[in-house]
Amino acid sequence: MNDAYSLLGLSPGVSRQDVKRAFRRLAMHWHPDRNPDPAAQDHFRALRAAYENLIAGQQDVEEIVQEAPQPQRPRGADRRQDLALDLEEAFLGCEKPVRLARDIDCEACGGSGEEHLTHSRLCEHCHGSGRVRAKGGLQHCEACDGRGYRTRRPCSTCLGSGRTQAGRTLAVKVPPGLLTGDELRIVREGEPSPEAEGEPGDLRLRISLNTHALYRLDGRDLRLVRPVSALRLLSGGELTVPTLAGPVVVHIEAGSAAPRELRIENAGYPSGRGQPAGALVVELQPMLPEDCDPQLRRLIAELDAELSRKSARYLPELARWEASWLGRKSASPRR
Ligand SMILES: [Zn+2]
Ligand SMILES: [Zn+2]
Repeated sequence: MNDAYSLLGLSPGVSRQDVKRAFRRLAMHWHPDRNPDPAAQDHFRALRAAYENLIAGQQDVEEIVQEAPQPQRPRGADRRQDLALDLEEAFLGCEKPVRLARDIDCEACGGSGEEHLTHSRLCEHCHGSGRVRAKGGLQHCEACDGRGYRTRRPCSTCLGSGRTQAGRTLAVKVPPGLLTGDELRIVREGEPSPEAEGEPGDLRLRISLNTHALYRLDGRDLRLVRPVSALRLLSGGELTVPTLAGPVVVHIEAGSAAPRELRIENAGYPSGRGQPAGALVVELQPMLPEDCDPQLRRLIAELDAELSRKSARYLPELARWEASWLGRKSASPRR
């Protein structure tokens, strides 16, 4: 029982109302829907168990101690900001500095927007008369309230608004796997409550992912175009492919030299919010060699001759064309 009290930050013997209040405050912070910390779920479960334990134990006390209902303190407003992430940062998770600008009372004038003058001054609007010329004739001078002289002037620091911008930088832990449009909620980092003892609101960060020079996101699939020698596609073999977690070696089946896709399950974008991890989809783009040297030319000519001999099987369209227009089954070697 004492452990349950200390988990909720309470001393033994406090009222049921205090237990409820402590639990509500901690639950706001630790609820796994609001707190991305992986430890949050377990901690929240422990808090709830402690709470239920204490509430059950206090059933009898409740009937004797009647408490005045606590007024609900107004909570501060939530603060919404955008947070742009590079794909690498979003993939691995990161700690990101987030600048929070805040409007505070001007220090120079204490928020009044005015500063006192050591000597009173003739009002420059009405030139001391207390009245100004307007459409309907002479009117009361607003600047000096009709007195003709001023003992204050607008604060030169805040230009009369009474407010200035202050700010601080928050190190935000970004869990891996967030996508554009997701929201990251940081509890109690929003606007302060209008009342001194009220809870501040939450900071709600709207995620957007920067475009990447290589990868493209398609749901949770990560797509990339990988140039590859057309001959490698024909012969099959190994190929190194970059992933956001580092390069991996994949096996290519021997087959056609036409563009094809290679799909590696679970190597794409990490899972999040109950979604499974995506696949890495490699779009293989065949490349043909250019301007070969004599040694390569010899090898290719040899290959070409061999292909010509077997054209009916390996180059059927060419074989049909030659049979139609040259009147024989296959061409003799051109070289
Ligand atoms: Zn000021
Ligand atoms: Zn005046």
